[in-house]
Amino acid sequence: MNERKRITILGATGSVGTSTLDLIERSPDAFDVVALTAYRDVEGLAAAARRTGAQWAVIGDAQRLDALREALAGTNVQVAAGADAICDAARLPVDWTMAAIVGCAGLKPTMAAVEQGQTVALANKEALVSAGDVMLAAVQKHGATLLPVDSEHNAVFQCFDHEAPRRVRKVTLTASGGPFREWSADAMRAITPEQAVAHPNWSMGAKISVDSATMMNKGLELIEAFHLFPVDVAQLDILVHRQSVVHSMVEYVDGSVLAQLGTPDMRTPIAYCLAWPDRMATPCPPLDLATIGRLDFEAPDPARFPAIPLARAALEAGGARPAILNAANEVAVAAFLERRIGFLEIAVIVADTLSCYDPEPPVSLDSVLAIDAEARRIAEQRVEDCVS
Ligand code: NAD
Ligand code: MG
Repeated sequence: MNERKRITILGATGSVGTSTLDLIERSPDAFDVVALTAYRDVEGLAAAARRTGAQWAVIGDAQRLDALREALAGTNVQVAAGADAICDAARLPVDWTMAAIVGCAGLKPTMAAVEQGQTVALANKEALVSAGDVMLAAVQKHGATLLPVDSEHNAVFQCFDHEAPRRVRKVTLTASGGPFREWSADAMRAITPEQAVAHPNWSMGAKISVDSATMMNKGLELIEAFHLFPVDVAQLDILVHRQSVVHSMVEYVDGSVLAQLGTPDMRTPIAYCLAWPDRMATPCPPLDLATIGRLDFEAPDPARFPAIPLARAALEAGGARPAILNAANEVAVAAFLERRIGFLEIAVIVADTLSCYDPEPPVSLDSVLAIDAEARRIAEQRVEDCVS
């Protein structure tokens, strides 16, 4: 890369955000940081803004503006707070934006970046799952570019024949299967939040770790893949691969299968997006297949992991279904992490919410947000029913 890239990181204090910062801080001559945002972590945000010399640091929780101002006293970093300020930060002119806020909370800021016609590295899968066609229409209208950060989609992006999609027969997303891959349905009843957030291969935020444990993460990724690549639902497949070395595969009509492999470290797909269409070096340990020795594959079990068929059905039905699935899942995962419901109740709440709410397909960002809010209200009621 010859010219310095101006970049913004939405969700800079999270797992993906800090991995992104790690890469850009290793190449101080290649990047200028325009804005960093976070929700509540004033200390983490201020420290990152100081280290990178960011122009802006924006905290989502408006109550924490004074604390942020204090933490950045004596620097040139400008500060702001509140959800609208995060969207404003997303609109600042840059060459590259990392969308790494977790959940539908990231939808408005991600759309704000898209509406500037920016190149957006998309980690925030919930935004694309909820807004689907609405986001893709905005991408088209404003000439934005979405680069997939999610390791599976990044793998597909690297293997896919973008010029002639008709040559592709199938896209297979791999899944680690999470920490409970081999557990009996009975044993899964008593799973605790601590057990669920301890992922065997990847170090990630709490929400996506629980999603990996229920395999809803793979369900969301199925929907994400449908929007990111020109394929039919029937061409999308899921394969459990416990080592998380093969990140996904693209099968061609002649029987050839191209896969992208690598050490499970998010800095590789993030670096691919950061340097795209070039490549950049990363500190990720090289893949050592001789030491790994073997790679295992198996079909996912829809009975113990009902989130996968739920997500596939939502994708097939389309319209508002994926937004409802996502909203109910966010509520249920939060309730599980707060120990208000059990692990197996997460999928039950998602299924119940889907079965009693069937609005018209969303046509605008506002209608997506309205569906999201109503699905959350219903799911929250279901959580209450479980608790009482
Ligand atoms: P995380 O919980 O570690 O970080 C989330 C970030 O979002 C933090 O910076 C937090 O301050 C910010 N945030 C949370 N709620 C917010 C709100 N209401 N308003 C504004 N900001 C808010 O999450 P993560 O693991 O880094 O995941 C981020 C996104 O990337 C998720 O959508 C996840 O599915 C996706 N993703 C993560 C990984 C991974 O390895 N962690 C891999 C693939 C995809
Ligand atoms: Mg993934």
